[in-house]
Amino acid sequence: MASLNEVPLTQLKGVGEKFALTLSKLDLHSVQDLIFHLPFRYEDRTCIVPLSQIRAGKHVLFEAEVKGSRVVIGRRKSLEVHVRDSSGQVALRFYHFSAAQAKQLSNGSRLRCYGEARLGQTGLEFYHPEYQVLKPGDKHSPPEKLTPIYTLTEGVQQPRLRKLCASALGYLDRHQVTELIPGSILKDLQLPSLQEAVRYLHAPPTDADQHALLEGEHPYQQRLIFEELLAHHLSLLQLRSSIQSKASPAFVATGESETIKNEFLNSLPFSLTGAQQRVSDEIAGDLSHPFPMLRLVQGDVGSGKTVVAALAALRAVSHGHQVAFMAPTEILAEQHYANFQSWLAPLGIKVGWLSGKVKGKKREQELITIADGSAQVVVGTHALFQDDVQFAELGLAIIDEQHRFGVHQRLALKNKGKQNTTPHQLIMTATPIPRTLAMSAYADLDTSVIDELPAGRQAIETFVLPDTRRQDILSRVQSICEEGRQAYWVCTLIEESEALQCQAAEASAAWLNEQLPELTVGLVHGRMKADEKSFMMEQFKSGKIDLLVATTVIEVGVDVPNASLIIIENPERLGLAQLHQLRGRVGRGEHKSYCALMYHPPLSQNGKERLSAMRESNDGFKIAEKDLEIRGPGEVLGTRQTGLVSFRIADIQRDGAWLDTVKQVAQIMQRYPRQSNALIERWVGNRQQFAEV
Ligand code: ADP
Ligand code: MG
Repeated sequence: MASLNEVPLTQLKGVGEKFALTLSKLDLHSVQDLIFHLPFRYEDRTCIVPLSQIRAGKHVLFEAEVKGSRVVIGRRKSLEVHVRDSSGQVALRFYHFSAAQAKQLSNGSRLRCYGEARLGQTGLEFYHPEYQVLKPGDKHSPPEKLTPIYTLTEGVQQPRLRKLCASALGYLDRHQVTELIPGSILKDLQLPSLQEAVRYLHAPPTDADQHALLEGEHPYQQRLIFEELLAHHLSLLQLRSSIQSKASPAFVATGESETIKNEFLNSLPFSLTGAQQRVSDEIAGDLSHPFPMLRLVQGDVGSGKTVVAALAALRAVSHGHQVAFMAPTEILAEQHYANFQSWLAPLGIKVGWLSGKVKGKKREQELITIADGSAQVVVGTHALFQDDVQFAELGLAIIDEQHRFGVHQRLALKNKGKQNTTPHQLIMTATPIPRTLAMSAYADLDTSVIDELPAGRQAIETFVLPDTRRQDILSRVQSICEEGRQAYWVCTLIEESEALQCQAAEASAAWLNEQLPELTVGLVHGRMKADEKSFMMEQFKSGKIDLLVATTVIEVGVDVPNASLIIIENPERLGLAQLHQLRGRVGRGEHKSYCALMYHPPLSQNGKERLSAMRESNDGFKIAEKDLEIRGPGEVLGTRQTGLVSFRIADIQRDGAWLDTVKQVAQIMQRYPRQSNALIERWVGNRQQFAEV
């Protein structure tokens, strides 16, 4: 007996090669796929409603006879069809209609219709209802079950798909959809069988809890949601174990590694926080294993992740291996380069630099030092991922602010180790990843959290005010700078156009220059040349510039502890996570810091809510939860493109409560590799774009 995932759609009546191709756009390839193509809502067509009882706004099924029709030439031409039953009458209206249709809907025809009643020109009307002409003597009774509504694609109509799903379900009498979760687990969790669940969901009885079905909370939906979440989790675990089955150099602690570490720590003007210490130890533990570390370090902005990265780098270098340190933006990469240079060069370590802007001869030289191993630590942007970058002996890849890179890029580095070894991977992010997301999207990583800020930091005070109060802000900037502090003025813009954003920043800088003649005003934006940008950042860092006007290029990582005020224009246009990142540019030293969110009135309700969330919290995790609530997971992680968190029926927020159970069950499923693989195949299949690992 063939299993249903091997039965092609062309086996179904009325499905030819061409239609099968259309269906493949819905990711439907086998009879089993149809069975898992669940309705997203239902309609109640189980009883025929007398016309006199129909109210506007209701979806109803009714039967009536055509009593007259005419083509109305109004603002838009329409076919108006008057129908009547023994209790009353309504009109049907069609804005698109064929001559054949007009003929079909002529006097005396009996119709069964389904649609939404609205108040129209002639009273209650149905616009483009679904209808069926009843032949004399036709005695179809209405369906006994709720009618499923499916996601469609061009070339497939609801009735046709409904028929297909129904005939796919017919196969269930003779064939199996394999139950892949062991019965004992289903029993413990009190979950119904797969068969029961899919049958029910394609055709629920009239007394089904429709509210629960719409919300995705019905036990039969939960059964499948659980299975889908489990499949995703298993696929991430599989990814992880396939990476960890590779060999990596073991960087154990040695006399030499300890000496260089202490030398480095002694050179710092501060001592590590407890959290930095703990996380560094966790990393050191991973690095001492002969298989790849896969660790995510989360730490709110300003928690001091860079030092932790440097310590990891030192361990690899002390074993004669190279380290790649990657940042998502040029400015951030440069800052890391400057930091690493000043920290590591005194210890006799050669730090290399590679970004997209490094070209020609310069790039060739860099590539040579990377390839011959003389560049021990290489800092750069995604340019480090390119194929022609060959490391002599890459032992550790550190990726900063990973949420900006896709999983693919993260994995691209796996091939850059030497002779069958895979580099250790350390991923750092300040974007706090809500727990539910961390478990679903990052299940392949171990996580460490730097949950402590360096001593002496004070909470940033946030103000929300309209841009009509620009002058008040100016005096604030003035007084802050007079105290010897510095400020950022961030221009965000209107359209998604970098060019416009840069123009706005230029205009603001000119205006501020005029308004604040005693201050030195600088400007950085994405369209400037790399060396102009780094010159400007250098000037700001060394205190020669008081006020730095910038676009969101300074969003991540930029570290100037003396800056204690940041003004963000049009904050209502940005996501919360991004605002939190921007705000994190201040409050990085011992000075009391401020953030002014200067919005353009009027503010929408949603905008108000978001800005007050910023005012009320400095806690990146809380803000991220809020962000997830407002924007959804794809946006929060920036992984929309990678398809990483695209589920068929699960919704990571709504179904977050499952995740602990999913984790536990996934452990048990490790004992059933065949079923686990089949689950992944069923639910993740080719959505798993990193399957090549
Ligand atoms: P982030 O976690 O946002 O990447 P950084 O690594 O840029 O933070 O560190 C923020 C600032 O805090 C830097 O100026 C850094 O030198 C400083 N810093 C890091 N660790 C400590 C510490 N333990 N005590 C005091 N300052 C620290
Ligand atoms: Mg950082």
